[in-house]
Amino acid sequence: MHDILPEDQPYFQRVAEVTANLVEFYGFKRIDPTVLENVEVFTRGIGEVTDIVEKEMYVLKTRGGDALAMRPEFTAGIARSYIEHGMCALPHPVKLYTTGPIFRAERPQAGRYRQFNQWDLEVFGEDSPAIDAQVIQVCWNILRELGLRDIIVEVNSIGDSQCRPYYKKLLMNYLRSRQNNMCADCRARLKKNPLRVLDCKEERCRKVVSNAPKIVDHLCEPCNNHFKEVLEFLDELELPYRLNHCLVRGLDYYTRTVFEIFSEGVPVKKDKEKKKEGSANEACPIETPGQIALVGGGRFDNLIKMLGGKDTPACGAASGIERLVNLMKTQGVRPTKPLLPQVFLAQIGILAKRKSLRLFEEFRKSRIRVVESLGRDSLKAQLGRAQKAEVRYALILGQQEALDGTVIIRDMGVGRQETVKLERAVEEMKKRLKK
Ligand code: AMP
Repeated sequence: MHDILPEDQPYFQRVAEVTANLVEFYGFKRIDPTVLENVEVFTRGIGEVTDIVEKEMYVLKTRGGDALAMRPEFTAGIARSYIEHGMCALPHPVKLYTTGPIFRAERPQAGRYRQFNQWDLEVFGEDSPAIDAQVIQVCWNILRELGLRDIIVEVNSIGDSQCRPYYKKLLMNYLRSRQNNMCADCRARLKKNPLRVLDCKEERCRKVVSNAPKIVDHLCEPCNNHFKEVLEFLDELELPYRLNHCLVRGLDYYTRTVFEIFSEGVPVKKDKEKKKEGSANEACPIETPGQIALVGGGRFDNLIKMLGGKDTPACGAASGIERLVNLMKTQGVRPTKPLLPQVFLAQIGILAKRKSLRLFEEFRKSRIRVVESLGRDSLKAQLGRAQKAEVRYALILGQQEALDGTVIIRDMGVGRQETVKLERAVEEMKKRLKK
């Protein structure tokens, strides 16, 4: 877990601004789901045999004996809220977004935290492949708008309840005869969640899955058509993507489209022709070292029903803000500079301090950015701070000025000073700052 220190705030603010501006343009409305959820929201939604539920959830028991989980992701909680607040009665699609902290008891390593922030978007009530493509496009646009380079979308379809069970059996048969060459985790996954073997990072498991049957070759016709259309939309949008038959996303609620956006150290080929090379261009993210997952998402047509709502198709995505910030830093992307203060207000003595408080409020109302150092009495120390704050003007309210109802305006650049009436101070500053 980590604190977000003042020097990192401009990066986090920049991500928040870019995300809100962009998603609101696409019609997403903000929702803030609760941090704590009944643990069942996640065990039923995400699935019992997933790393998140098995190993990574922080669960606490209330005095009344309820088990609550600190949210390990947003989707299931937002789906719970959609059902609870009868959003199925709203005109569809219902587009929601949020941002906030997420908690996962993961093994800490670079870019992997136990408390981190995500932005998240969800679209409910629409099964058109155009929505899948739009969700990917919005995520892509956020990263590009932030100024991030060398990013690529990887996409796959994991079918639905019609075709996936057959593929699962096929995969299980293939893996079973090779289980001696797999890691202990994957041998356990084999029985309950064989798809997870596909994205295991262990070298020996990667060797095994490299020749495994691919799910895209076993999709039922509706899933196949859906996936084809998603790819056609992506082509139309000219988004650089590649197919990755190992991408499964691991959570039970996903159906059909799954995608991730990665940053990679090498330049991404945008060549449209490359995409048409088909299997030659397919890859496993786990086979490319140095990749960082920035965004993950997909379609989850069964989740609302799994949580007790009506059958409602849905699609969404989430991104780790710390990872975006880290990448902004490594790629030298500066967040916009915070607005610097324009005026420093220095005061000496109790009467001047009292008048300064008032003057400070007048500046605030006139939207002039002013800083003060009310805790200090030494003029030298205060002017030192004014210099550090790089303000153009300092206002000095000494004991005599406070008695006379005047104030000194000091031009910090040239050191020139002028005395004006206290009640004219804000107007005088407005005039000078305009120049
Ligand atoms: P996931 O749904 O697990 O793929 O998470 C979505 C996104 O959140 C990932 O693409 C990462 O950018 C980010 N993320 C996931 N886990 C962590 C973590 N432990 N620390 C920081 N970011 C994370």
